[in-house]
Amino acid sequence: MTEIRSVKCACKDCVCVVEIDKAVKKESKYYCGDTCAEHHKQKSGCDHAGCECKG
Ligand SMILES: [Zn+2]
Ligand SMILES: [Zn+2]
Ligand SMILES: [Zn+2]
Repeated sequence: MTEIRSVKCACKDCVCVVEIDKAVKKESKYYCGDTCAEHHKQKSGCDHAGCECKG
């Protein structure tokens, strides 16, 4: 059996849930991608369709 541990992205607007193995870890928080991990300095939204988070 494979244990999949998932966490909600630490970006506060983001609704995405990511597997810890695949998450971007930053300051001991887990994010769904670099965009969220960088607090949307460059752009809003993340790689997931329909998610319009802005940090
Ligand atoms: Zn998202
Ligand atoms: Zn996210
Ligand atoms: Zn985000």
